[in-house]
Amino acid sequence: MIPGIEDQTLTTPRITILATGGTIAGSAGSALGRGYRAGQIGIDEMVAAAGELGLVAALSGEEIAAVGSQDIGWREWQALYHAIERAFADPAVDGVIVTHGTDTAEETAWLLDLTLPAGKPVVLVGAMRPADAVGSDGMRNFANAVRVAGDPAAHGRGVLVVMGDAVFAASDVRKAATSNIDAFKGFPRGPLALVSPASLDWFAPAAKVGQGARFAWPGVLPRVEIVYAHADMDAAPVESALAMGARGVVLAGLGQGNASAPVLDALEGAVTKGVPVVRASRVDEGYVDRNVEVDDDARGFVAARSFNPQKARVLLQLLIASGVSDPAAMQAAFDRR
Ligand code: GLU
Repeated sequence: MIPGIEDQTLTTPRITILATGGTIAGSAGSALGRGYRAGQIGIDEMVAAAGELGLVAALSGEEIAAVGSQDIGWREWQALYHAIERAFADPAVDGVIVTHGTDTAEETAWLLDLTLPAGKPVVLVGAMRPADAVGSDGMRNFANAVRVAGDPAAHGRGVLVVMGDAVFAASDVRKAATSNIDAFKGFPRGPLALVSPASLDWFAPAAKVGQGARFAWPGVLPRVEIVYAHADMDAAPVESALAMGARGVVLAGLGQGNASAPVLDALEGAVTKGVPVVRASRVDEGYVDRNVEVDDDARGFVAARSFNPQKARVLLQLLIASGVSDPAAMQAAFDRR
């Protein structure tokens, strides 16, 4: 706990910080340098720095990992999920913040959103610039996350991502720029709220109040490969995904989830072998709908609709893990938001 903060008022929100690393805990060793190392600043140091801002919140921290989010995976996800479960069960916790690298924040947020009930606020936050860089965005994003996680109106909204003075739903959010501090965008919805350390404006009431988890936490996440489509493409990448033992394939397709005839034929072959195929798009934004240029009904494919390939992969993993194999039931899961 931060000394002097916890006894402010009975309404002071009590927030658990689960740290995983990333640029928000990154250090360059120089305010002007380009290179830096993610995950260098420990959770105690971060909580102490937040305390100096005078945030009205009682913060306590737990370190889950100290890695760049390119190295986040099953082990960290399990630890995060179970730590959040404990926080949900603890009446002395009002909200949870997960500090996370920005590169895969959308995947972690979406996995947790699909497997947790929409109860207390769970807010992922990161930074585009390391803590010691000039113009660092980390502490501002963190202060914004505290504001969101401590707000009773954040309950029943599912997992949220706070970046660049905006609050996004896990289902909408994606990283859309490699280095701007305004790197996160939402689709099909933009932000659910705008936030600053001094203000928080929600644009609509919470839509998921009382909703349980869509999926049980899986015993294991099955292997699902993303095949990236391009011009002049043959079937080899699909064949090697299957040879690797993929239990499902997501196509990062051209335009509305399209690919060359040999690739589509190989993907149809996968479906006939019991390996589900979801068509998403390599294009940054937009829907992939059924039966537009590709005959999904005839080929047995699922259309990713609003989900990009990396989000489609997470949803397909959970569907396979929970024993769903019927393409119509899979499509219904991708149609739902
Ligand atoms: N690649 C690292 C990560 O995702 C650093 C990038 C960042 O956090 O913005 O954790």
